[in-house]
Amino acid sequence: MDWEITFKGITYECINCAYCCSCKGWRIYLNYFDRLKLKDYEYAIEPCEGEFKYRLKVNEKGCVLLNNNLCRIHLEKGYEFKPLMCMIFPFSCMIKWDGTPLLIIKHYCSGIKKGKISKKVVNEAIELIKELYFDMFEEIIENGMEHSSKTEIFENFRVDWEEREDFGRYIFSSKTFDEMFERCREIFGNKINKLNLEEIDEIKNNLQRYNTKENEEEILRYLLELNRREHFRKLPFYREVNKLINIGNYLTKYKNVFKGEGEVDKKLFLNLK
Ligand code: SF4
Ligand code: SF4
Repeated sequence: MDWEITFKGITYECINCAYCCSCKGWRIYLNYFDRLKLKDYEYAIEPCEGEFKYRLKVNEKGCVLLNNNLCRIHLEKGYEFKPLMCMIFPFSCMIKWDGTPLLIIKHYCSGIKKGKISKKVVNEAIELIKELYFDMFEEIIENGMEHSSKTEIFENFRVDWEEREDFGRYIFSSKTFDEMFERCREIFGNKINKLNLEEIDEIKNNLQRYNTKENEEEILRYLLELNRREHFRKLPFYREVNKLINIGNYLTKYKNVFKGEGEVDKKLFLNLK
């Protein structure tokens, strides 16, 4: 099965900062194989609701196995003994409307935009994700994909999912917000007023005001990445575009645009306010 990579243009290298082990809201769920590997760490495991049934305990500093910013399992047993979810981070998986697995990357990892991502790293992440969900993977695909052939562009105006995907890719592969707006006009025609046009103007003003014009292309690249993930897929397409424009506006205020993307990803993945 072919996977789609959603984060082309983004690099990553772990800098061993341990942020992922201590960040609020992230929990490590354990599958059957993890539990076998972690038999010496039963004290750190607790039962939980949901597909995995067990997870690692946390305290006010994060994972209970984090000791002076070092992973106790890694130190005592070696990398291979770490839970699969720990080895997979910052990668994760979502399912596209047609059932294609999407490999995504979480921008709140401090190693984003460092080093490079080789094919080997990508392939390893995919294999680890398959191992994590092993006998659940087909069900995850089945539950994650769309079973209707049509999707809404506006309320009561439906198109094929392929068309919606093409529209999103066309709009957000723009290099500037002016170009994005022109492409929106082409797609939305006389329904262009459904978009938050004032917010597009605000974005252009903010790029000047906060001196972040140099980030314009990266902001749009990130919006394209978000459009390929499934966060806003249940919304009519015009509302998804408005959400992405709103995120684009938020990012204009960050001189370090990757920090802003990390904040957005934290809200999307960790349900933080
Ligand atoms: S947050 Fe990222 S860079 Fe830091 S330890 Fe985790 S994976 Fe490595
Ligand atoms: S088990 Fe180790 S790598 Fe995983 S969250 Fe805990 S300290 Fe971090």
